Amino acid sequence: MHGGHKQDPNYAHLVPIYASSTYVFDDAEQGMRRFSGKEEGYIYSRWGNPTMTEAEEKIAALETFGLGIEVKGILHASGMAAISTLMLATLKPGDKILTHFSLYGGTEELVSKILPSFGITAIITDLRDFNKAEEILKADKAIKMLYIETPANPTIQCVDIEELTRIAKQHNLIVACDNTFATPYLQQPFKYGVDFIVHSTTKFLNGHGTAIGGILLGKDVELMKKKIYSIHKTLGGNSNSFDSFLLIQGMKTLEVRMERHCYNAMEVAKYFESHSAISKINYTGLTNHPDHKTAMKQMRHPGAMLSFELKGGLQGGINFMNKLKMCVRTVSLGTCDTLLSHPASMTHYSVPKEEKEKYGITDGLVRMNVGIENLQDIINDLEQALK
Ligand code: PLP
Repeated sequence: MHGGHKQDPNYAHLVPIYASSTYVFDDAEQGMRRFSGKEEGYIYSRWGNPTMTEAEEKIAALETFGLGIEVKGILHASGMAAISTLMLATLKPGDKILTHFSLYGGTEELVSKILPSFGITAIITDLRDFNKAEEILKADKAIKMLYIETPANPTIQCVDIEELTRIAKQHNLIVACDNTFATPYLQQPFKYGVDFIVHSTTKFLNGHGTAIGGILLGKDVELMKKKIYSIHKTLGGNSNSFDSFLLIQGMKTLEVRMERHCYNAMEVAKYFESHSAISKINYTGLTNHPDHKTAMKQMRHPGAMLSFELKGGLQGGINFMNKLKMCVRTVSLGTCDTLLSHPASMTHYSVPKEEKEKYGITDGLVRMNVGIENLQDIINDLEQALK
């Protein structure tokens, strides 16, 4: 609630939305000291301002809570901006990234379509198979980064952060983890020795779907303050005061929201398990999920995201989506409201069937961000739509 907050000079309770692109120097000498780094202070909002700083420090406090380490966070315009800064600041031509096959679509596109033109390529495998990961690392010395996203979008698969980081560190890799689905309330990847964490703050950290944002956090504070900050400033993927303000207000309720999200998700998963219109339910909180043990090893609760398969296939999915009354038909996740998307008719509509099925995206699959509404209201809406 209070982490990262500093007393406002005018005694405002909340950090104000600093709507100023630039900051004034008392005299030329002060400008000189600020530019040379001899004196701390704001210069230009692309490089940071007090509202952004509060959001950065609040997330850093959450990600390091109880760990006894210090990290530095840099707020970005989006999760993708944070991930792009990470890759461009830490890798060079010839380097390779080792990653899991279930990955957010934008990140997949970055590593497989955009970074190759900078000479950086990716090896995409099933990171739940440690032997295979070790074999790949032994055979290819050009791999410089292990990039994990757990739970992963869109399949909600989980990979073992501790074990993979241990293996990666034997090969001197940089380890980065996308912690968007879990949030630091459910999972703290720094505990297992990862070097960097990224978030799409658009999701559960903001919590209300009011702003796009991202953060890159690093445990080498000097590297973050110098090289990475300098690259971030020049790439220009900065956030802004208004979005930062919304993010700060959202984070104040992170704990209560996540508790309720996870409670509702577990109850909805149990309800789906016994429903005759559903052939499969993917929720890591259920003991029969293949990644249940991994999720429970590293997460406080199994999260708010689940997916299920309707027996009615593509048309069944379309009919179900059209019947929803309260739950919202949309992409994205992490909001208080329950959101559902049907990949076969939406995000993955133009992807060939074989390609979709390789990633477990069947025609009747529906992805759900279980919100924090009254549980019975959610179940009533699902029930009437399934009927
Ligand atoms: N990482 C994950 C796991 C995501 O789900 C997303 C977006 O859905 C991103 C990163 C990208 O975030 P943004 O849309 O804020 O750029």
